[in-house]
Amino acid sequence: MTDQTVYLALGANLGNRREQIEQGIAALSEQGVCITNRSSWFETEPVQVENQPWFLNLVVRGETTLDPHELLSTCQRIEKNLGRVPSVRFGPRHLDIDILLYGEQCIESELLTIPHPRMAQRRFVLVPLLEIAPELTDPKHNQRYADMLSRLDEGKKVLRSLINES
Ligand code: ADP
Ligand code: MG
Repeated sequence: MTDQTVYLALGANLGNRREQIEQGIAALSEQGVCITNRSSWFETEPVQVENQPWFLNLVVRGETTLDPHELLSTCQRIEKNLGRVPSVRFGPRHLDIDILLYGEQCIESELLTIPHPRMAQRRFVLVPLLEIAPELTDPKHNQRYADMLSRLDEGKKVLRSLINES
């Protein structure tokens, strides 16, 4: 199978957030996803479940020969190995890895929806994504993510982290 370009969003709001995300990226590289670019770090205010610590988020681009479901189980295995215990949906976590895009494919299975179903409403995903891929278009709706972001309300805060300067 040929390589596919994928975009993944990583986030954490418990424990040593930066360390866990770095370990997640290293594990992806070891388990079939060659990382070709990464965004800055962003400190982001939780959405939906609000009474929890802020998240650290970033987006990476990778190349992989894993098929979409293999990629999902790889991400879930890495989340589990790095200490994520199943808890509330949208709730606190040591590491969350979401598949945003898999080439230009649109997938809807019981376990997996690509493009990620909530990415277009999430500034904490779109802001880092557009930093590394400003021209990217949503393959399902054929709209530029930059245009989608500009139509979203400011809402919860997404702040470029001071870690980037250290
Ligand atoms: P969220 O990431 O939206 O806060 P969770 O990580 O708790 O929520 O959701 C995990 C579930 O979402 C998994 O059971 C997985 O099967 C499903 N899922 C569907 N599409 C995707 C995707 N594109 N990336 C990651 N998980 C997905
Ligand atoms: Mg997830």
